[in-house]
Parts: sequence; C-alpha cells; structure tokens
Amino acid sequence: MLVNSSLDEIKRRETALHYIADLVRENGREKLYDLTGLAGGFPLNQDDIDLLETYAGPALFQEDLDFWGRKHLGGEKVLALNRTSSGILATILALVKPGQEVVHYLPERPSHPSIPRSCQLIGASYRELAVGEELELREGTSLLVITGSTMDHQVLSQEDFKKAMGIAHQQEVPVLVDDASGARLRTVIYGQPRATDMGADLVITSTDKLMEGPRGGLMSGKTTLIDFVKDKAHQFGLEAQPPIMAAMVRALENYKPHHIKMAWERKDHLYTQLSRDCSGLEKTPTGVMLTPDAVMELVKAKTTLSPQDVSMLLAMLLLREENILTIPAVGMPGASATIRLDLASHDAKRLTDGDITRSLHRALETLSGMVDDLDSCRRLLYQ
Ligand SMILES: *Cc1c(COP(=O)(O)O)cnc(C)c1O
Repeated sequence: MLVNSSLDEIKRRETALHYIADLVRENGREKLYDLTGLAGGFPLNQDDIDLLETYAGPALFQEDLDFWGRKHLGGEKVLALNRTSSGILATILALVKPGQEVVHYLPERPSHPSIPRSCQLIGASYRELAVGEELELREGTSLLVITGSTMDHQVLSQEDFKKAMGIAHQQEVPVLVDDASGARLRTVIYGQPRATDMGADLVITSTDKLMEGPRGGLMSGKTTLIDFVKDKAHQFGLEAQPPIMAAMVRALENYKPHHIKMAWERKDHLYTQLSRDCSGLEKTPTGVMLTPDAVMELVKAKTTLSPQDVSMLLAMLLLREENILTIPAVGMPGASATIRLDLASHDAKRLTDGDITRSLHRALETLSGMVDDLDSCRRLLYQ
C-alpha cells in the first residue's frame, strides 16, 4: 500500500498543492478546473476589509451573521467556527464527558473522521450506525450526531431523520446534525426541512460546500447549548476569526440555490456519456462519482495497490495531466477517497461533458499503464 497513515495523506496533499501552485503560477487560475464542489470564495466588500480588526470585526459581523445564519439554518443563536471539524470537536468537548458515549447515525459509510477522532481525543466511546442498523441509545449516551449528507453526498431521508430525532428526544439526548453539505443538498434538491425545523438542538454546515463562501463551520441551535460550545471553542481557539466571519456573512447574503438545481439537472447527461465505458459510475445529487472499489475495477492491470491508493493516484493524474481537481488529491487526512465530480462547482461551467469524459478516460488509461510501477506511483503522490 502507498497511503498508510494520515501523515502520508498530509504529504499527498502537499504534493497536490504544489501541482496547483505551479499550474496557477504558469498558466493562470483559469487553467485549473476545480470540481470538488468546495471551492469556496472570499466575497468581501471594501468596507469589510477596513473592519478586519480583532474586536471591531466580530462586534459588527456577529450581528449580521446571526441574521443570515438563522435564515439559512434556523435556530436561536449562531456561532462561527474555523471549520466544521472544529465545531464538531467543540461540541463533543462541551457536551460529552470521558467514558460517556457518542452515537453517530448516518446514511452510509464512510463517516467523516472528525467525529470518531474527537471522541477518541476526550476518551469517549463512539458507536456508528448506518441506515438499516438499529438505532438505540443507552444510558451513557450523551450525544447523538446525525449526518444529513455524507462526504459522498449520500442523503438521509426525512423519514429516517424524524425517527432518529424522536428516539433521541424521548431519551433526552441532545442532537447535533452534521449538515456540512446537507444544509443545502437536502433542502434544495430533496425539499427537506432545515435540521432545526426537524428538532435538531444544534446543526453545523460548511460555508464552502455548495456555496461560495470561505472554508469554515457555521453552527446554529439552542442558545444554552451554543453558549456551552462557544465557551469551549474560545478556550481552544476553534472559533472563526474576523476575516472568515465577514466572508461568511457575504457568502450567505449572496447564496442562491439556483446553481445547485442546474447541476442536479445536468448530471444525468454527464452520467450517460461517462457510463458508456465507465462501469461502476454512480450518480450523486449534483454530479457523478467513482468509489475506490469502482476505480479498482476499471484498472486494466494487475496490482498490489489498495482501492484507496488507486483512487488517490487517479485524482493526482486528473490534476497533473488534465488540470481537474477532485477531493482525493487535496482532501484532508481521512477524507473520502471517492472521486466525485461535482457539477455545482463554479469551474464546471467552463468544461463540457465531453471534456470531462475525455479527461477521465485518458487518466484511467494512464493509471492502468502505471500501477505496476510502484516508483512512479510513489513519485506521483509524494513528488
Ligand atoms: C466536509 C465535511 C466535514 C468537515 O468539514 P471541514 O471543513 O473539513 O472541517 C464534516 N462532515 C461532513 C459530512 C463533511 O462532508
């Protein structure tokens, strides 16, 4: 195996960032096609820039963030965090004691690593249940985390949501909804209610997923719980700083669900084109994906590499040879190795479905030709 630890993933990510830096420096940003669906953006006004001070910034931005954040997520009070992962950690620090249990209910694995890792950090036990497995909470369960939409954009049905909320509330266990992408995917594509409207005590979303904001975590929920989380966030430096807060406000102001709906409509055409010679391709709400196992099936050569390895190699080839960026190239350690092409990405408008199809086929061919040469594979990942 080539990728064996989170340290390896950090190195793989550094290599990908070097490729991107070289490409953008030599050919300009428009040569890069970011199809991760999490390109973000930093939509500040000149007036905002003048207020990026330690105290004046948050004093003003917090009020706007309360307004726009409640509009987007519902709830009583809003808290901005450095990342969604930071918000999850702050919540577990605030609501769970060592020895207690966190249950995580999700539509499908893999789960985001921030939830089990936060539990491990504080010495809480962690139990993961996917749809189809029976959800029961125990005496020592002090938090239920429900994932609204996974890293691979698998969405929890409204029925399963309600059932899980019901069980938690009956046993007076607080519920945090990890709605990183779900706050938009669930509501815009599937017409589901906001998490707080279904009874979530806390909800968090990523302001760079399916919206043009900065990478950051926007949390809303019950005032008493938000205050506990805020207390921990400040103690450990997990809160968002003024520039992030300002950009979150502008991103929420500018947010338009329209391009998510357009991507939902476009993906069927891309799927039809690509799936002709790409068996194992699956649709996501706003694009298509190849799981690591599906990539493995498409490799036309014998290999000792793992499905994760080949998927990350394919992502690196797409980046280096085709200038197409996907998450397995730049993702944080533990992020899903699924190759997801997200048509809701800003750059998707500059590629035709034919362009994407040709690029993926070329990259798959190159991959098949190199998997038996471990040295080249290693160089591609770690330079
Ligand atoms: C993206 C994501 C996160 C974490 O977001 P970061 O910005 O990387 O902290 C957490 N949970 C889910 C389901 C996600 O998709």
